[in-house]
Formats: sequence, C-alpha cells, structure tokens
Amino acid sequence: MERSAVSTDFPPFANEPFTDFSQKENEDRYRAALGEVDEKVKSKALYAAPVIGWRELEGQERGTRRDPSRSSVTLGVIKKAGTKEVTQALEVLEKGRDGWEFTSPEERARIIYRAGEIIERDKFYLSALITREVGKSWAEADADVAEAVDFCKYYAIESLKHAAPIKTMEVSGEDNHYLYQPRGIVAVIAPWNFPLAIPLGMTVAALVTGNVAILKPAEQSSLIGFEISRILQEAGVPSDAFAFLPGDGEVVGEALVQSPKVAAIVFTGSRDVGLNIIRKSSTVQEGQESIKRVICELGGKNAIIVDDNADLDKAARGIVQSAFGFGGQKCSACSRVIVVGGAYEPLLEKLKEVASSVVVGNPIDNSVTYGPVVDEAARAKIMETISQAEQSEKILFEGTAPQDGYYVPPTIFRDVDPTNPVWTEEIFGPVVACMQVRDFDEALAVANRSQYALTGGVFSSSRENLDKARARFKVGNLYLNRKITGALVGRQPFGGFKLSGVGSKAGGKDYLFQFLEPRTITESL
Ligand code: NAD
Repeated sequence: MERSAVSTDFPPFANEPFTDFSQKENEDRYRAALGEVDEKVKSKALYAAPVIGWRELEGQERGTRRDPSRSSVTLGVIKKAGTKEVTQALEVLEKGRDGWEFTSPEERARIIYRAGEIIERDKFYLSALITREVGKSWAEADADVAEAVDFCKYYAIESLKHAAPIKTMEVSGEDNHYLYQPRGIVAVIAPWNFPLAIPLGMTVAALVTGNVAILKPAEQSSLIGFEISRILQEAGVPSDAFAFLPGDGEVVGEALVQSPKVAAIVFTGSRDVGLNIIRKSSTVQEGQESIKRVICELGGKNAIIVDDNADLDKAARGIVQSAFGFGGQKCSACSRVIVVGGAYEPLLEKLKEVASSVVVGNPIDNSVTYGPVVDEAARAKIMETISQAEQSEKILFEGTAPQDGYYVPPTIFRDVDPTNPVWTEEIFGPVVACMQVRDFDEALAVANRSQYALTGGVFSSSRENLDKARARFKVGNLYLNRKITGALVGRQPFGGFKLSGVGSKAGGKDYLFQFLEPRTITESL
C-alpha cells in the first residue's frame, strides 16, 4: 500500500537518558527539588483537584494523601470528583471532540511532543514529588519521569505514520483509500506504581490520535496526576479535549466505565478490577452508540529460570534487582525463581548474600535500595501474605525494615509448594519464592504454569536452552541473562497476555492503533 507521509521536524526518537546522581550538580538539584516539595507540604500548598475546561473545581469531598515514608505526615489534600464531575466532563469533551479530531495531526503531535519537553524541563521537581508521594528511590523516580518523556515523544512521532490516508490498490476507474479515525471519548484509569509514566502514556496515546480523554488517576498518586493536567495545559491541549478527575475507583472509575458516552477505556491495574471493567463495559447502556473498546494491562507472577550452567553471581544480582526494585511493586517484578538441578543450593547462598545488601528506608536518602510500600493497606496485605506463607513454607532470607512508615522487609522463601499462594498469586511487594526442578524443560513447564504471562527471564550459558526459551517461554516480555524489569519505550515495547492483559504493547508501534478505527473510502472515477 502506498503511504503519503506527514512531515514534521522531530528528531529521530531516542530514549531520555537517566540522571547520573554521581554528579554533584544532579545530586544538589534533586535535594533542592525535595526541599521544594517539603516547603509546599509545610505551607499546605500541595493539592489535587478536578479540572474541567482548564478550570479547577472543588469536587464532592476531601481526602488526604499521607507520606508513605513518614505516615504521620500529610502531603496534601485531594479534592475528589464524584459522578457530577463525570457528567460535566463528558459534556465538555463531547463538545470538544470535533475540534480536536480535525486539528491537524502535525499540530496534535507537536503539542504532545511539547508535553515531553516540559517534563524534561521539570524533571527534578516531578521526580522529587514521586519520591514523596509513592516512595520511589531517586533512580526509580527518575526512570519514571524519563519514561513519561519517552511516551510523549515516541507517540508523537509514531502518530504521524498513520495520519495520512493510504492508497490501497491501483485499479482503473476507482480510487481506494484506507485511513484511521479516532474513537471519541477515552476514559483513562491508571495505577499508582508508575504514577507519571503510565497515566501520562495512556493519556497522550489517546490524545495524539485525535481522541479526547478523561484521566482518573489512582487514589494514591493524585498529586502527581494533577501535575499531568498542568503539563498538558501548558503544552497547549485545548480546554475541551482533556479533563482530570481524581476520585475513587468505585465512584469515578465506575461512572466512566458505565457511561454510554465513553467509546474506549484504557486501564492499567490489577487483574480483578480489569476483568470487572471488561465485563461491565460489555453491557450496552441506553443511548450508547458504539461497542466500547477496552485496553487492559494487568498483573503478573513473573518467573526467572536459572539454568545449571548459568553465571550464578549475575543471576543472583538480576533476581534481587528484579524482585526488590521499588519494593517489588512493579507488574514486571520477579516473584518466582526456578532453579535447575545442582545450581539450586549455590544460587540460594548467593541470593542470601546479595539480598543482605538491600537497604530499606526513607527514599529521600539516595543510598536506600527501596522505600516504603504505597500505603498501610498494601503493607498489611503483604505482611499477612508473608505470615500465612511462613506457616507452611521455609524462609531463606528476611531482611529488616524501619517501623515508622509503610515498610516491608525483603523476604525470600525456598522449596515452595507450587500450590501455595506465595507461588501462584501476585503479591506486589518485596517477596520472592524459589523452587528446584530437575531440568530445563521442567523449568519452562513450571514457569509457564501461571494464569499470567507478563515478564520472564532466563539465566543460562547454553545457546540451545536460550533458544528453547525464546520459543517456549510464553510471556509478553522475555529477558535473557539480565534483570526482567526496566523496559524502555521503543526498545522493549511492554505488555503481557493470558490474564496479564489484552496483548497491547505500550511504547510499541502497534499501541496507537488501539485508539483508532480504520475506514476505507472508495470513489468511482
Ligand atoms: P487497582 O486495580 O487497584 O487500581 C487501578 C485503577 O483502577 C485505580 O485508578 C483505581 O481507582 C481504579 N479502580 C478501582 N476500582 C475500580 C472500579 N470498580 N471501576 C473502575 N476503576 C476502578 O491497581 P493498583 O493497585 O493501582 O496497581 C497495581 C496493579 O496494577 C498490579 O496488579 C500491577 O501488576 C498492575 N500493573 C500492571 C501494569 C502492566 O503494564 N501490565 C503496569 C503497572 C501496574
């Protein structure tokens, strides 16, 4: 098919580099940004509010966000939207749909690219706010911000590849074109664990393809979510193309999912909430004009296989990084370790050794490995899972953690029964379970025996086994001889299948198509 390209002056896409904190200047800037956030906390200047038509609203009720690292400190007030704001936002966006759809694709792409540049400019402040609101270490917060920049730039560039109609076949007397149109109003329902990158990535994907979007951030990360609204306004997104609605999932999320005016829902979060959204959005409401498109990216129970010929030092480091980075609160985190034959005991020894260097503490200190988990409910649930597992399973390693925030120590179980929830259920905390198997084939069978298929890894020095894993280890993102977290936009498009999601790949070339409907136009000449 012949394609007529749409031109802009964007440079070729390259990933945003991570900040080098060994440079004194960068360290100073991060500390200054943390100080700026703390000043705002002290003067009660941090808050989030619903934004419709670029006007901040008071919302229906007030909530607060506590600092997960210091649970006695309140970071800010959340003015929560309710169903009234959902109705209002939908009315405004419905009026704005046409204007944004028929804004030129180049202009839309420029606005979204600019959003990326604004994030780059404000990088230190945004990272510091992430460190405070969800407890990410400096490096993890910086990576979150870098990914947000990448999503804006990558999707802006990608969107132009499908912006112009494509001529299909040359047939005498007939002109055939294939083109894409936006779906309409997109509801974006986001998690807190990548509080900038994920909500922003989903939102700009919807916007850059000509849809209008309502963002509902997670309750735990509304302060950062509010920054997304500010960034998009400054970038030049029109007032009737975007709305920001912080609020409860059961209220704002439900109302968006059930609204007949919403054409597509893009959700990242837990399995059960995602499956419920799929179920509810399949019921056609009165006045509904289209079948809702649901894009769902859900959880994982990710395994790393260690072969009996693997470099065990490298494997132990890779497992610890994958399991305990951000306290295991990544959908990509490693939570199962499957070790082949005689490598089991030596690997466990090395795991213990590497895990004992993990430091848990307040992430304003750049030397900690990870900070608190996101809130008291998460802490209580993870601690309960650990104590239940302790009844029947053996602990290999349990670290220490401070008491004055929502901290959980790194915990490793050994010889785990594969029916135990610690082996089968997503825990979303710093907990990993190990098991020994006879050979590599059994390792692959055990790894694949999960309802999830998100990430997976293999440490091996056997070319034959690495190739076998390429073919038979069925996960969305497979990593060989490296950690299994830290996918980069464009380089490792990210997302799973089975109950890990619908197979879409964020940061990949197919992602934007999900926000578009294809059309064919034929003219007889
Ligand atoms: P969650 O499912 O609890 O919440 C996600 C969002 O859904 C929040 O905004 C929440 O308010 C909203 N919500 C809750 N109930 C709702 C309802 N009834 N209707 C509509 N919306 C509702 O998930 P979380 O705790 O924020 O995030 C952690 C989960 O996200 C983990 O399972 C993790 O694996 C998954 N995750 C997956 C990916 C991926 O790319 N596959 C990435 C990040 C996180």
